[in-house]
Amino acid sequence: FLPHLVASLEQVEQTYIMVKPDGVQRGLVGEIISRFERKGFKLTGLKLFQCPKELAEEHCKDLKTKSFYPTLIDYITSGPVVCMVWEGVGVVASARKLIGSTNPLQAEPGTIRGDLAVQTGRNVVHGSDSPENGKRETALWFKEGELCEWTPAQAPWLME
Ligand code: UDP
Ligand code: MG
Repeated sequence: FLPHLVASLEQVEQTYIMVKPDGVQRGLVGEIISRFERKGFKLTGLKLFQCPKELAEEHCKDLKTKSFYPTLIDYITSGPVVCMVWEGVGVVASARKLIGSTNPLQAEPGTIRGDLAVQTGRNVVHGSDSPENGKRETALWFKEGELCEWTPAQAPWLME
């Protein structure tokens, strides 16, 4: 069934997307989920979660030497976040484009940060920067039983 879709399975990537505490507090959760949903990617994990400090530190470990690291950890743990995994061919790079540049003032209009934020330290959303980190971050934030494999009804209308 749908052999053309199965053929591209090895190209399917996962990306870890997170609405940061400012996005949750500002009531932007639906808006942000909507953008990935409307694009046509597949949601395979979703939860509201209060991130413990140790997890924030593990997630941000590559930024440990940066001056903004302590405030970044405070920010990420300052309230609930919405954790998501989205799947699809090319989803990692495409999600980064949908999110926009790190500094929201430089992010293009039409992107999440370009439309909804003004400051790097309050840039409302996270997205994995490579397929490898997509897998790493998915495994870090979700237990296996929390992810859902399913075939959206719209699949044959998204890919020929
Ligand atoms: N960040 C910050 N100040 C900076 C750079 C980054 O507060 O000068 C924060 C910001 O929340 C950013 C996060 O650290 O989203 C991770 O930085 P990265 O360079 O990975 O940016 P991203 O991949 O989120 O665009
Ligand atoms: Mg990053």
